[in-house]
Amino acid sequence: MASKINAPQVVIIGGGIIGLYSAYYLQQKGHKVSIIERTGGADGCSFGNAGMIVPSHFIPLAVPGMIEKGIRWMFNSESPFYVKPRLNWDLISWGLKFQKAANQKQVDKAIPALRDISLFAKKLYQDFAKEENNDFSFEEKGLMMLCKTAHTFEEEAEVAQTANKIGIEARVLDVKTLHEMEPEVKPDVAGAVYYPGDAHLYPNLLVKKLKDLLAQKGVTFMYNTEVTSFETENGKIKSLKTDNGATLATDELIIATGSWSPLLAKQLNINLPMQAGKGYSTTLDQPKGKKLNIPSILLEARVAITPMGENQIRFGGTMEIGGINQDINMNRVRGIIKAVPEFFPDYPISVPPQSKVWSGLRPCSPDGLPYIGRTNKYKNLIIASGHAMMGLSLAPGTGKLVQEIVDNEKTSIDISLYKPERYD
Ligand SMILES: Cc1cc2nc3c(=O)[nH]c(=O)nc-3n(C[C@H](O)[C@H](O)[C@H](O)COP(=O)(O)OP(=O)(O)OC[C@H]3O[C@@H](n4cnc5c(N)ncnc54)[C@H](O)[C@@H]3O)c2cc1C
Repeated sequence: MASKINAPQVVIIGGGIIGLYSAYYLQQKGHKVSIIERTGGADGCSFGNAGMIVPSHFIPLAVPGMIEKGIRWMFNSESPFYVKPRLNWDLISWGLKFQKAANQKQVDKAIPALRDISLFAKKLYQDFAKEENNDFSFEEKGLMMLCKTAHTFEEEAEVAQTANKIGIEARVLDVKTLHEMEPEVKPDVAGAVYYPGDAHLYPNLLVKKLKDLLAQKGVTFMYNTEVTSFETENGKIKSLKTDNGATLATDELIIATGSWSPLLAKQLNINLPMQAGKGYSTTLDQPKGKKLNIPSILLEARVAITPMGENQIRFGGTMEIGGINQDINMNRVRGIIKAVPEFFPDYPISVPPQSKVWSGLRPCSPDGLPYIGRTNKYKNLIIASGHAMMGLSLAPGTGKLVQEIVDNEKTSIDISLYKPERYD
């Protein structure tokens, strides 16, 4: 589409999946868009994630009982959740906000907000795959929640009831049906809940696709460039400065810097509570004759398994709240791998070398809802961040909302609960 006459110059900070999809919808509407990315473009959270598109994940992380469970997990070095104890005011304050959100009333408020953005984003993925020659392995095969114990199965069957009530199809499966659906590697579990409306894709291919598409359409990329400060004037951000000495004027500014967003927000006096939740993944070839077909979550272990493309499979998991660092703790990787034969006894797998392990930082808000919206403090600043374990899933929805906000259009869904300054 031709450039809009007098279209504002939109600068997006952050070249992860949220920044890329924001650029995609803005460019479609004729905006002149630049993306500034601190790294060479392959280090954020948007590459090695599990690639799941999950309307099934309509319950936020902060639920009643989560803190007690988290404390128990902290004493096991291979467990799926860990908070590194440290005397850090941001962490303490985030923890208090998480605790405050972990009640049924808040969860009931968050559920429709998560459902709506998830379904919106999934529809946009379907359109995107159709329009842009699906060469990133978008597949609609659903998601299996595998329950090792009868107790977890009972709990998950209750979640399935809620899902069906709010319009997300969930089927409670017995073991026989499950074995028919996954014939080459039969799971050893008490039962499963199947979400047929979930989908998956190969994130590395999707990111590449978006970058190529955007570059072709004239979006400017500035890699290895970190935004370090801002110049403001009359309640607007006039320009931003980068670590290589450049000053860039901007009409509209989008902060889409994932786990790094609070650092930039702080400079602008905006309180954006967020903790980085580190996770790991490893991508292997599917073993011959033992191919898994349907993405699954090993519920008690919180491990995600996603077949990707023709012949690959990705195993991911853990949530370590330990600040901004991407160091790899092989104990946690062992925890992920050890869980696989517990659920799939015949699956051949061993702990990969550290060089085959990827780590990424999920940008986690305390209430489990993303931050999407224009700020009150600066009229031309939009924040799009805090998507935690669902950033890939929600990215097209977020990108489209960002475009609608920039263009002052009525947003496709209600965004009032995603307000970036809700903790100010
Ligand atoms: C193990 C694991 C599995 C996951 N599985 C799934 C899944 O199955 N489905 C799902 O939906 N989500 C999943 N996620 C979560 C998902 O990956 C994230 O929510 C998502 O990638 C966040 O995208 P983002 O664009 O906000 O952040 P990022 O991808 O981290 O991008 C932010 C970018 O901003 C850049 N940046 C930061 N500061 C600056 C600055 N000052 N100047 C310039 N650039 C800057 C960074 O370098 C980075 O590239 C998973 C995460 C992990 C760790």
